[in-house]
Amino acid sequence: MAETSVFSKIRAGEIPGEILHETDRVFVLKDIAPKAPVHLLVIPKTEQYRTVVELAAGDPSLLAEVVAVANKVAAANSDGDFRLIFNTGEGAGQTVFHVHAHVLAGGLTEGSLGDG
Ligand code: AMP
Repeated sequence: MAETSVFSKIRAGEIPGEILHETDRVFVLKDIAPKAPVHLLVIPKTEQYRTVVELAAGDPSLLAEVVAVANKVAAANSDGDFRLIFNTGEGAGQTVFHVHAHVLAGGLTEGSLGDG
């Protein structure tokens, strides 16, 4: 499958972006339009899965790795508490169909589910 998502282009160095961390199977990108003091994206390197539902069905261990890396980068970049969001489908605000977890941390409003 061609690697064509905006995230893959950043990873390939074709367009600018700040990659903070990577493992064999995932990488972490600073979101260009942060919705919290810390807003990171944890992204599988493969583009095989468009949504978290596809990822959970197709490779549960990769989904578990996304969660573990989210936990690690939240601890490294904030106090360790974080909100993990997978927008799933256009109606839920998904714009990039290369599965990614939003990690929001730092100064979150208690009880809020975000800006929607
Ligand atoms: P979603 O709307 O859930 O698909 O999330 C896509 C996210 O990718 C949004 O939060 C965007 O701000 C972010 N994004 C889009 N383009 C870039 C980019 N070039 N560098 C970093 N983040 C980006």
